[in-house]
Amino acid sequence: MNVETKCLHAGYEPTNGEPRQLPIYQSTTWKYDSSDDMGKLFDLEAAGYFYTRLQNPTNDMTAAKIAALEGGVAGMLTSSGQAANFFALFNICETGSHIVASSAIYGGTYNLLGVTMKKMGIDVTFVDQTLSEEELQKAFRPNTRAVFGETITNPTVTVLDIEKFARLAHKNGVPLIVDNTFATPVNCRPIEFGADIVTHSTTKYMDGHAVHVGGAIVDSGNFDWMAHADKYPGLTTPDDSYHGIVYAEKFGKLGYITKATSQLMRDLGSIQSPQHAFYLNNGLESLHVRMNRHCENALKIARFLKAQDKVAWIHYPDLEGDDYYEMAQKYLPNGSCGVLAFAVKGGRDAAIKFMDSLKLMIIATHVADARTCLLHPASHTHRQLTDEQLREAGVAPDLIRLSVGLENADDLIADLQQALDKI
Ligand SMILES: *Cc1c(COP(=O)(O)O)cnc(C)c1O
Repeated sequence: MNVETKCLHAGYEPTNGEPRQLPIYQSTTWKYDSSDDMGKLFDLEAAGYFYTRLQNPTNDMTAAKIAALEGGVAGMLTSSGQAANFFALFNICETGSHIVASSAIYGGTYNLLGVTMKKMGIDVTFVDQTLSEEELQKAFRPNTRAVFGETITNPTVTVLDIEKFARLAHKNGVPLIVDNTFATPVNCRPIEFGADIVTHSTTKYMDGHAVHVGGAIVDSGNFDWMAHADKYPGLTTPDDSYHGIVYAEKFGKLGYITKATSQLMRDLGSIQSPQHAFYLNNGLESLHVRMNRHCENALKIARFLKAQDKVAWIHYPDLEGDDYYEMAQKYLPNGSCGVLAFAVKGGRDAAIKFMDSLKLMIIATHVADARTCLLHPASHTHRQLTDEQLREAGVAPDLIRLSVGLENADDLIADLQQALDKI
C-alpha cells in the first residue's frame, strides 16, 4: 500500500461484522478465565492485554498504523512527544551514557537532554548539524549510545542530512534517532535514509486539529543490538525485573519496543489514553491530504513574504534559494511542512506590533494546526534559554514561527498584508 492508503487502512482491519471505525477500548483492565492464562501474559509468554498502563488495543492499532506509515517493524504511543523522545533515549541510555544531538532541536527536547537527562547522569554534546562528518566525529565518546536530530527542526525549519548522521552513528556503533514530527511520514520516512528509530509529537500534524497531546516511537528493527551487546546491557542481558528476559534475544527485531513497553511504560507510566489514540487515528486518516495543502499554502505565503520590503529574512526549505532547498529536494521532494520562520525589520518591538495586528492568524503555543497560528520563540517557547543558548540553537531573537493552516491562502496573505502595513 502507498502512504495515502495506509493513512486510512493500516493498523485496524475489521473482519466480517466488526465496527468500521477503530473502537475505543475504554477499559483499564481485561478479564481472564484462569490464573494460568493471566500468568502467561505477565511472563511475556503470550501476547494479550491486562492493564492499560502497559498496553491497550486502541493505542496498539493506532501505533501499528504509524509504524506502517514510517516503514518500521513496531511502534508505541506515549502521552506526549516529550515522553516519546525521553523513552526513545532512556530505553538505551543509563547513568554514564552520552548522547550526540543536533543543537537545532525543539526547545523542549533541548531542555530534556541538556537539563533533566543531565541530572540523571546522561551527558549530551550538542552539535552544529551543518558540520562535516570529520568535525562531527569529534563529538563521539566511548560511552556514546545514541545520535539524535529532527528531520525538520522546530522552530528554525532547517533540514537534517539524515544520511550523513546515519553514517556517523553507524560508524560509531550506535543508532540514529530522528524526531520526524514536522515532516510526518507523508513527506519523509527517515528509516529509508538510514535512521533506526523515529519519534513523533503526535500533537502536531498527525492530530492536526489541536485536540490531543501525544507521542509515538517507531523502531525500524534494523539496529543490531546484539552486535553491540556491551553498549546496550538493557537489551542484551537479562532483565531481573522481568524474570531474566533478554529482550534483543527473545524478541529479535521487536526487542526495543517490547522493552520500552513492558519495562519503561510499566515503571514510568506515560501511556496515551485510548480516547486520545482514537482522535489521533482520525487525524491520521486525512494526514496526506492535509500535508499537501499545508505545504501548498506555506509556499504561497513564503513567496509573498519574501517579496515584502518590511520582511528582514525568511526561511522555508521549499523556497528556491533557501539555504536548505537542496537538502529539502533530497529528503522532502513532495514538500516539507507548513511551518516557516521569518522576521520583520525593526527587531523585537516590530515583531510584537506585527503579531498583535493580525486578525485571522492567532498567537498560540502550537504548530501544525489546521488553523494558522504563530509565535515568537524568544518571548514564548524558548524564553527559558539564555541568549547564548538561543544563538547555539540557531534561534534569532527576531524569529517569528508561522504555522500555516488549511485556510484559503489569499485570506492569509490579506491578513499578513494588513499587519505589515501597521509597522
Ligand atoms: C512539540 C514537539 C515536541 C514535544 O511534543 P509534545 O507533544 O508537545 O510533548 C517534540 N519534538 C518536536 C519537533 C515538536 O515540535
